[in-house]
Amino acid sequence: MQTSKTDILVIGAGPAGTVAAAVANKAGKKARIIEKTRFPRFVIGESLIPRVMDHLADAGMLEAVNRMNFQKKFGARFIKNDKVCEFDFSDRFTDGWAWTWQCPRADFDMELVKEAERQGVQVQFETTVTAVDMSGPVKKTTVQYADGSTEIIESDFIIDASGYARVLPTMLGTVRTAKLPPRKAMFVHCKDEKRPAGREGWMISFVVHRVDIWIWVIPFSNGNCSLGVVGNPDFFKDFEGSNEEVIRAILEQDPNYRDRFRGTEFLWEPKVLEAYSASTSEMYGNGYAIVGNSVEFLDPVFSSGVMFATESGNLAAKLAVRELNGEKVDWKKEYEDYIQKAVETFKTYVASWYDGALQDVFFADEQNPKIKQQLSSILAGYVWDMKNPWVRNHSKLVYTVSDMIRRNENAKPASPGTKEM
Ligand SMILES: Cc1cc2nc3c(=O)[nH]c(=O)nc-3n(C[C@H](O)[C@H](O)[C@H](O)COP(=O)(O)OP(=O)(O)OC[C@H]3O[C@@H](n4cnc5c(N)ncnc54)[C@H](O)[C@@H]3O)c2cc1C
Repeated sequence: MQTSKTDILVIGAGPAGTVAAAVANKAGKKARIIEKTRFPRFVIGESLIPRVMDHLADAGMLEAVNRMNFQKKFGARFIKNDKVCEFDFSDRFTDGWAWTWQCPRADFDMELVKEAERQGVQVQFETTVTAVDMSGPVKKTTVQYADGSTEIIESDFIIDASGYARVLPTMLGTVRTAKLPPRKAMFVHCKDEKRPAGREGWMISFVVHRVDIWIWVIPFSNGNCSLGVVGNPDFFKDFEGSNEEVIRAILEQDPNYRDRFRGTEFLWEPKVLEAYSASTSEMYGNGYAIVGNSVEFLDPVFSSGVMFATESGNLAAKLAVRELNGEKVDWKKEYEDYIQKAVETFKTYVASWYDGALQDVFFADEQNPKIKQQLSSILAGYVWDMKNPWVRNHSKLVYTVSDMIRRNENAKPASPGTKEM
């Protein structure tokens, strides 16, 4: 069988893989990406958060993405009944980027691949990693090409960025089911011809349909829009018909977006993903690191997936380069603990979104501007700033503040005309 050699082999050409490979290549290592599909390929996850910009800058990819003219994203709007809570990323607690993009991922991911190639990374499409021999100091990865032929690639390090496939965790038996309850998402791209002018038109919205069900609306610069319904799988059982009929029926129930999307053309039959949250018990090992979705995916509600992909891809590549250069790396502290700390913070916000506590804070009658700035930093992805109390005390704070809001709002006198029951 044919054999070749590289310094760092990356499995998967999503954002985690391309950022990791570009960063390793910039640091002087030969990086090669093996990707199963042919690009551009569809993947969901179209709303980025500003922290991603730091990673794209590190990987030298910011300019290339900027040329794509994707819809800029400066904040996010959350809607519940007649209440609207808008976050502006420029009004926040932690320093960093104040904007990012909303983009069809097929185009975004393709551009990252093209830029990685321009920088010197070798990328092979329609090539699948089928086996890995991790026993010696040199890792031996078997790949299969579209024509059925195979090759062994020797490398000093493997970065697994294979997303939902979790190639290494599956082979090593380290996949773990999520601690979050299973959720279901149904989504589609559609024409957005009735998009209102200005801020309301381009801004991403998260609409609470009922406490455990929400709708995303992500307008793109190409005149199309991504629509998705997410939450408790039981909710979907109340609807009959095709996926398109189900999404249309749910949108009909929503007073905010009913008119904008009534009768709009769907660009494909809506897709469904279920029970997508999962993780791995080992984030690193001798000569390998797991990055991106392969490590853990929580939930789409705060658009943190791509940020975790690029954060972990960027960091793992830098640590791998240091290790290959002979430095001692404390993977537990510098990689696992660092990533897990932020995963735990987002986990609190995901759980408290679905149980309603965070919704109490977002939709409180009286908004505290300081709290909003601190939450804005979290929504922007700056979740490592221990000066931010909503990072430091995430679990305690969200439930304490929610309790206070519930008590205050229940204690308010009934408005005139409200009958005592
Ligand atoms: C319903 C839903 C909505 C979401 N919305 C958002 C959002 O708005 N914003 C956000 O940031 N995130 C969102 N996400 C999460 C987002 O999809 C992922 O976090 C992100 O794509 C992870 O990137 P990645 O690079 O880790 O993996 P991927 O982008 O999935 O890339 C992995 C690549 O590995 C390749 N691969 C797999 N197996 C092999 C193999 N054996 N050999 C070679 N290659 C292989 C795959 O073909 C794929 O191209 C959402 C997720 C869901 C489920």
